[in-house]
Amino acid sequence: MPPRIALLDVQALDLERDALLARRAALPERQRLRDLAARATELDQAHARCLQERGAVNRQERDWANQVEDLAVKAQELEDKLYSGTVKATKELEALQEEVRGTRERQGEFESSQMETLEEIDRLDAEGVDNRKAREQVDTDASATRDGLARAEALIDEELGVLAGRCEHHRQDVPSTILVEYDRLRGKERLGGRAAAELAGGTCGACRVRLPVIEYNRIRNEPDDVLAHCPRCSRVLIRMQPGAGTAEEVT
Ligand SMILES: [Zn+2]
Repeated sequence: MPPRIALLDVQALDLERDALLARRAALPERQRLRDLAARATELDQAHARCLQERGAVNRQERDWANQVEDLAVKAQELEDKLYSGTVKATKELEALQEEVRGTRERQGEFESSQMETLEEIDRLDAEGVDNRKAREQVDTDASATRDGLARAEALIDEELGVLAGRCEHHRQDVPSTILVEYDRLRGKERLGGRAAAELAGGTCGACRVRLPVIEYNRIRNEPDDVLAHCPRCSRVLIRMQPGAGTAEEVT
């Protein structure tokens, strides 16, 4: 195969590989995994807050329970005294009754508060259960997504392998001096991986600059292994077949 045609093939295959690598890097599963990781962090943080809150509510509930118990004991003592028959004076009995009533009332209020904290504990426990279920689902989804990513990568890698083999085959027909330069230019970011360009009708196929007639005629009559660069974009110029048609001749 003529070197110029082989280099064109190498270029085309390399661009195909670049596109595949870009596709591999941009596989939607990657974004999905990033989203799932963010969701997992969000859930874990919410769970930690929930546990912390539950601890505080739990302490509050214990506090209410102790106060309810103290008041119940106190009310019982007052009632015992009230019905013991030791207090006889009417005024004193009335005062005692009032104290029992007030103590039982406060006990009732504290019991209501305790009940509210118990309901809050139930709510936080249910939230914790929901959170852990959602977290498990995230793990399941992430696992399935990782499998999907691995499969998609394997398919692309297979294609890349085939392209690499074909590329290597065509490279054998390109003089090493040109290959070295081609590979060097492939590494230049500004060229976007396109290191070689066809020179047709005196125009660079990549940047479209038109070469001066003398320069064009000199280049196209050089032997195949002589390097030619585009004066503007510096890509390796691939001369179309000299003598392929007089239409190519620029005068
Ligand atoms: Zn150019």
